[in-house]
Amino acid sequence: MHITMVKKELADGQPCKKCMQAEEMLRVRDVWDRIDDVVIADEADPQSDGMKLGAKHGIDVAPFFIVEESGEETVFTSIAKFLKQTFPDAKRPSRKATGTVDTVAALDELQGKTPQEVVNWALSRYGNGCGFAFSGAEDVALIDMAAKSGHAFTVFCLDTGRLHPETYHFIERVRDHYGIEISLMSPRATAVEALVHGKGLFSFYRDGHSECCAVRKVEPLQRALSKLDAWVTGQRLDQSPATRSDLNVIGKDVAFSGRGAELIKFNPLAAWSSAQVWAYIREERVPYNELHDQGFISIGCQPCTRASRPGEHERAARWWWEDETQRECGLHTGAGD
Ligand code: SF4
Repeated sequence: MHITMVKKELADGQPCKKCMQAEEMLRVRDVWDRIDDVVIADEADPQSDGMKLGAKHGIDVAPFFIVEESGEETVFTSIAKFLKQTFPDAKRPSRKATGTVDTVAALDELQGKTPQEVVNWALSRYGNGCGFAFSGAEDVALIDMAAKSGHAFTVFCLDTGRLHPETYHFIERVRDHYGIEISLMSPRATAVEALVHGKGLFSFYRDGHSECCAVRKVEPLQRALSKLDAWVTGQRLDQSPATRSDLNVIGKDVAFSGRGAELIKFNPLAAWSSAQVWAYIREERVPYNELHDQGFISIGCQPCTRASRPGEHERAARWWWEDETQRECGLHTGAGD
C-alpha cells in the first residue's frame, strides 16, 4: 500500500489550517509514519505537484489522500473516512477521565472562544463520553468541527418515526461523509402505540405537541444522555428570543441526568448567527438537509415543520399553530442554558 497526502499551501504562503488539523489527527492516532508521501498543493502555482494531483482527480479541497493498492487508487477527501477504511485498527483517543466541572469558571474561560475552541475543550475533557445531538444544519457543522479535532466523540439522533424522508437520507449522508457511527434513538414502541391508540396520529394539532414530543423525543433523549458525561447542541441565542434568551456556551444540565454525578451541556454556537453557521457550512462543504433548498430553515418532524415564509423568523415554521413561548420540544428546558 502506498499513501499520499496532499496538503495545501495558501496563496499568501501560509499553511492550510485544515491540513494542519488533519496532520495532528494522524499523529494522535499513531499513523502519521504510515503516510509515504506528503505533496504540497500551492494555491499560487497550478503547476505544483499537489495542484496537478487535484486536477487529475477532480478535487479542489485539501487535504485529500490517495491510497494505492494492487494498482488501484482510492481517493479520500474525508479524513474520518480515510482513517476508518485505511487504518481500521488505528489507536483511538481513549475516553477521558471525568470529574465535576466548575461551570462558572469554565464559562468565564470559554466566553468569547470560537465554536471550534469550545468543541475542542469539550472533547479533550470528555472524549467519547461527550455526545452530539444531531438533527439540523448547526449540528452537522459541530460534527464537522469534532471530526477535525482528532478527538473521539459520540453522535446520536432522535428518530421520532415522523421525520421527512429527506432527513433520513441526510442522516445516511452524514454517516457516510464522516465515516462515523450515528446511534438512532427510537421511541418505546409501547408508549407510541398507547398514544396513537388513544389519541390518533395527529393529536398535537388539537392539544399541543408536548405529549407526543415527550414520547418520541424526550424519553429517547433521556436514554441517550444516561450513557454520557456531556452533550453538545447546536442551539443559538437568536433562534428563539422567546425561549433561548439566556443560552450559555456551557452549563450543568439540570433537566437530564448523565451516567455520572453531573451532566454538562455545551452550546458552542450560542453566539453565532444563522448566517455564520451557513458560511461555515459552505466554506467547509458540510453536508446539509436538501429541505433547506426548498425553503425550510429549522427542520423537525414532518407534520410539525413547514417551509418558512419570506421575512418570517425561523422558529415560526415549527408548531406554528401554538403560542410562540411554547415552541420548544422539551429537549432544552431548564438545562443550564
Ligand atoms: S415534533 Fe411533532 S411529530 Fe415530532 S415528536 Fe413532537 S409533536 Fe410529535
